[in-house]
Amino acid sequence: MLRLQGIAVSSGIAIGEAMVLGRETFDVPDRLIEGTAVEQEIERFRGALAAAVEELSRQRDAVIRELGQRSGSIFNAHLEILQDTKLREDIESLIRERHYAPERAVSQILRRYADVFRRLPNPDFAERVNDVYDIGKLLLRSLLGQAHSEVFQLHSPVVVLAATLTPSETARLDRRFVRGFVTETGGPGGHTAIVAQGLGIPAVVGTGPFLGEVSGGDTVIVDGDRGLVIVNPDEATLREYREQYRAIETLQAELQDIRGLPAETLDGTRIHLFGNIEFPQEAEICLEHGAEGIGLYRTEFLYLGRATLPSEEEHYQAYLQVVRAMGERPVTIRTFDLGADKIPRDWLPRQMGWDSESNPCLGLRSIRLALRHLPMFRSQLRAILRASAIGRVKVMFPLIATLAELRQAKFVVADVMEELAEAGIPFRREIPIGMMVEVPSTVIMLDRFLPEVDFISIGTNDLLQYTLAVDRTNRNVVSLYSSADPALIRLLSQTIRTAEERRVSVGLCGQMSSSPIYTMLLIGLGLRDLSVTAGAIPEIKKVCRSVTVAQCREVVSHVMEMENARDIRAYLREELVKILPEFGRLP
Ligand code: PEP
Ligand code: MG
Repeated sequence: MLRLQGIAVSSGIAIGEAMVLGRETFDVPDRLIEGTAVEQEIERFRGALAAAVEELSRQRDAVIRELGQRSGSIFNAHLEILQDTKLREDIESLIRERHYAPERAVSQILRRYADVFRRLPNPDFAERVNDVYDIGKLLLRSLLGQAHSEVFQLHSPVVVLAATLTPSETARLDRRFVRGFVTETGGPGGHTAIVAQGLGIPAVVGTGPFLGEVSGGDTVIVDGDRGLVIVNPDEATLREYREQYRAIETLQAELQDIRGLPAETLDGTRIHLFGNIEFPQEAEICLEHGAEGIGLYRTEFLYLGRATLPSEEEHYQAYLQVVRAMGERPVTIRTFDLGADKIPRDWLPRQMGWDSESNPCLGLRSIRLALRHLPMFRSQLRAILRASAIGRVKVMFPLIATLAELRQAKFVVADVMEELAEAGIPFRREIPIGMMVEVPSTVIMLDRFLPEVDFISIGTNDLLQYTLAVDRTNRNVVSLYSSADPALIRLLSQTIRTAEERRVSVGLCGQMSSSPIYTMLLIGLGLRDLSVTAGAIPEIKKVCRSVTVAQCREVVSHVMEMENARDIRAYLREELVKILPEFGRLP
């Protein structure tokens, strides 16, 4: 039995057979071919190439069926490399001129390509190296006729174990079969974690290297609440986890009963629960869980894993899908928050100015990028404004740090409105405009920001990162990345108080609101709008319906006396479990 401690990023328990990704090795025959066999071998290579293209296209179509057009475009980058003429010519010339067997030619050329990418000074190309390896594997599998073990075409339940998974790859996981996943790298606030939560897949990241110690088919337990991974558990451990799994299922079934009821505290205070989404398809999942609207639509996912910028029409169609699904309910569309760990790996890193950044979290990300690339920003704003004519759309700017940025962004909105008006394109001129509070400077200057916005939403994922100077995706500093940190809680308190005084609507959409541990604290601090991961809505509602505001305020007074994250979290857990013992499984 192997026990690993990683970082818990997506709640729940998964038990299943391991599927190990990224460790596939092939016996590449080191042989030369007869001169007379060249044409035949080239034909064999072309056949394998065509089969690989077909295979990828099939996977893409399956993902499009499941998650929609935009998610399917994740495959385009791989397809582009695979169909690259230069790559094909390089491989064929090794077969033709040096009489290499196709397997050997593929292996050598792709290794050479990977080396070139690896040597480039830009760290963004590291991702490209992985793409090249993926393509090599696909071609070799096709040539060597090995069984496909791709995670994207599963027929039975598995637990996926991988060195790393990008947010886009995570989005492609088939929810019907992927019980849970574990990655060796990654941190608590990365977007791979956020996508896993959105899909409701229990996940642990940042375990450190362990893939060498597991084999496909091993039994694996993923404890997405405690960050534990157990490989080949003994009977007693397996029994214990099966019981916990059943307890969670029972709790989930009970929570379904309150689906249609409001999130109202025992003393009659109404809390509004909205959903966080990354893909339009998730809007339906939010509705199934009883969301009152979308509090955060992370539109940057429209840009990831594709080779070109999304057009205005593509934006519009995505927004329309969400707005139509939500009907009368509000939909807060956040303008693209690209950069940091959300980098479209296949296009324009240089044009975006990312290639020279040594510290992307503090670099050209998010609204800064939008204001630097106005045509891209305007095209998205046109689509958002057009969608505002159809439903209750709000627009929100991410990562605002200064008043000048907010004013410039609003100026662009006003200008785009004029453009639409002149063209006779309908939109809602009174569309509410809000900003994220996720940089400490905005908390400090909040009294100046508030008169200029209709609402604010606190992004604790980044606020925590920037307040404590701790990278949200870095497993080495995970112990510092806690939403229970007293500095963060003071910033929340200050933000909420200032917004209340100025009567500006304030919500919270960071991951903190998706954990029942923090619900009492957030209500006690005065929050009434929480935007959470779809799957967490029922649990958060259950907490809301089991407490009084007075109780929550008591909790806050106690927390305000405390000094460190560990004690605060332990206290909050204790208070929650006193009221709802069924949450005892949470660490
Ligand atoms: C946040 O920072 O809390 C937030 C909601 O934005 P994101 O996680 O997309 O950076
Ligand atoms: Mg953020």
